[in-house]
Order: sequence, then structure tokens, then C-alpha cells
Amino acid sequence: MVVYKGKIIGNGYNKGYGKILNGNYSVHAEVDAIYDVIKKYKNHGCERILRECSLYVIQYTDKLRNSMPCNNCCKVIEKYGIRRVYFSTETFNEKMI
Ligand SMILES: [Zn+2]
Repeated sequence: MVVYKGKIIGNGYNKGYGKILNGNYSVHAEVDAIYDVIKKYKNHGCERILRECSLYVIQYTDKLRNSMPCNNCCKVIEKYGIRRVYFSTETFNEKMI
């Protein structure tokens, strides 16, 4: 989810494969949430808003899983200038990078 000044302004989740012509296609939760903000604030300075947002990524099945954004998601996160990204890990001691 995308948080702006303590408020959740965008949500996203992993979306399945193969929904678009030309083979495999998927949208990860991080990118889905960013696009959610862009959709909602398109005419209200979404790019300026995103630069001040934090992104929270959580993956949970039977327990918390590592949800570090993949390379493609990182590119989108960087493109929109989101500087703080928090993600879940499987263990407390997992290293942050
Ligand atoms: Zn990803």
C-alpha cells in the first residue's frame, strides 16, 4: 500500500499471469498500488504526491514472507521517486539492503 502523510492512498495486490495478449504478463502489488494512486490523483499532482509517499509491501500466506520488491518493481519505485519502502521478511534477522 502507498501511504501519504500517514494516510493510505493506494492499494495493490499481485495480479495473475496471461491476462494480456502476447504472453505472460503480471503486475506486482507494489506497482499495482502505485498505479492505483496515479489513477486516483491523475489530475491532482500524483507525481508530486508519490515523491512524498512511503510504500509498504507485505506478503503473508501462513506466515510473513519475504516481499522485497523485485528489480522491475524497483525501477517503477525509482521512477516515481518513492524514497521509503518497507517490506516484510520471513525472519526478524534478515538483512536489509
Ligand atoms: Zn515485483
